Amino acid sequence: MPDVLIVGAGSAGSVLAERLSADASCQVTLIEAGPAPSDPRVHAQISNGLRLPIGDASSVVHRYPTTLTVDPPRAAQIMRGAVVGGSGAVNGGYFCRGLPADFDSWGLPGWSFSDVLPHFRAIETDLDFTNPLHGDDGPIAVRRVSEFDGCTASFVQAATAAGHPWIPDLNGSTLEQPLGSGIGAVPLNIQQGTRVGPGGAYLQPAMNRPNLTLLADTRVLRILIADGRAVGVQAVGPDGPADLRGDRIILCSGAIGSAHLLMLSGIGPADALQAAGIPVVADLPVGAATSDHPEWVLPVHWAETHGVPPLEAVLTTADGLEIRPYTAGFGAMVSGRRDDPADHPHIGVAVMQPTSRGRLTVRTADPNTPPVIEHRYDSAPGDVALLRSGVGMVRELIGRTTGFGPVSWSTSQHLAGTAPMGVDGDDRAVVDPQCRVYGVDRLWVVDGSVLPAITSRGPHASICMLGHRAAEFIG
Ligand SMILES: Cc1cc2nc3c(=O)[nH]c(=O)nc-3n(C[C@H](O)[C@H](O)[C@H](O)COP(=O)(O)OP(=O)(O)OC[C@H]3O[C@@H](n4cnc5c(N)ncnc54)[C@H](O)[C@@H]3O)c2cc1C
Repeated sequence: MPDVLIVGAGSAGSVLAERLSADASCQVTLIEAGPAPSDPRVHAQISNGLRLPIGDASSVVHRYPTTLTVDPPRAAQIMRGAVVGGSGAVNGGYFCRGLPADFDSWGLPGWSFSDVLPHFRAIETDLDFTNPLHGDDGPIAVRRVSEFDGCTASFVQAATAAGHPWIPDLNGSTLEQPLGSGIGAVPLNIQQGTRVGPGGAYLQPAMNRPNLTLLADTRVLRILIADGRAVGVQAVGPDGPADLRGDRIILCSGAIGSAHLLMLSGIGPADALQAAGIPVVADLPVGAATSDHPEWVLPVHWAETHGVPPLEAVLTTADGLEIRPYTAGFGAMVSGRRDDPADHPHIGVAVMQPTSRGRLTVRTADPNTPPVIEHRYDSAPGDVALLRSGVGMVRELIGRTTGFGPVSWSTSQHLAGTAPMGVDGDDRAVVDPQCRVYGVDRLWVVDGSVLPAITSRGPHASICMLGHRAAEFIG
């Protein structure tokens, strides 16, 4: 029987599997619903860091329906990577740490900025900065673009001309010297056009360890729980259904996948589970208050920039907006095609510390029915006002250089917090500060689900750090 079953070889799961299997006496089985990159078509899709492989023809993403807003309901799709490497294998390559104040505001033992900094350092090799804040021998190489072209160059020029200070290192914030607002180059885990994600950088080099087994194309349907203790999972793989047993069961299936699995297994809000016909094992607020970065996008009439990552620089404002000058239209980012005149580059305006909270719940006990996701981005008027002011600021900043298309609601694809961490007695918490599910023995969640609130920067670097940090609690 394996010591550890990890469900999901995504961003956190890849790092965690590598860390736990570094102990040769620990048998680790990693179960992943999506394919392994041994298929060259899969490998080609996930390694090109200049594209988002999320178009209709993609074989490496899973799409979930969501509604972005309450009034009126705006239907949209949220994507998750469904491949070894997870969403970190399909994302935009922006690898910016959460701010020190984010971690300190959680108030959780073991998660202050000084606790997590060594783990941020350990996961990266920063190719631009050598100082105590940065790692120099971690698997994920991080680099910033130093000479901008096209859309990014126009935006940076306009922002600096308007007096926004240049921030040399967006990963350079400390508690003593927090970064102010300004514009800076995005730390990218893209090297010469290749995405250096946790699947390739962490998991792949560990795959020859005899104590690490990967079961790709294998989907977990439920957690097996006996007498209040997780003992295994029910899965279906290339050879059909199978029950897999383990001594420790760790969900790394992402903010949607882990929450869905918890609820299918009877762990969630009792009323919702009962309505779905699922026997209740533990009454916990799974999916009750999710968070994400609400975004408005504003098409601009600049020519798109060729052969560069989707986002190379961002402007952050004192009131908590991140302004993103994307380098191409969504269509071009996804397909690489540049023949659609309506597919304009665009500017994203995102609220990075939103007060709105969303919901995720189950409708039925059938694992094939997707969970119901509601982002509820417009449920906090303050967030909407901030988005509006951000769009006004963009118009002012670059209005002399371009025309604009109509503004629309979008999502940053950063959904998190479906199974938040919290101390014992916190009625919002699903897992304790060591990522153990309350009320169920031998069950952990280690991925974006457990963020108590979304970080003030894109979550990917923080979720990779989280996999590294949590390995110390589980190992
Ligand atoms: C298109 C896109 C672009 C993004 N761009 C950025 C960016 O540039 N910067 C940034 O900071 N963030 C970005 N994000 C968000 C970021 O990538 C994710 O928040 C992060 O990767 C999530 O990591 P995770 O470990 O929580 O889950 P994931 O990486 O999503 O991993 C979950 C894994 O579990 C597997 N799984 C799920 N259910 C099951 C099951 N039942 N059985 C077995 N396996 C299962 C999935 O297939 C997946 O491989 C982006 C996200 C997307 C989708």
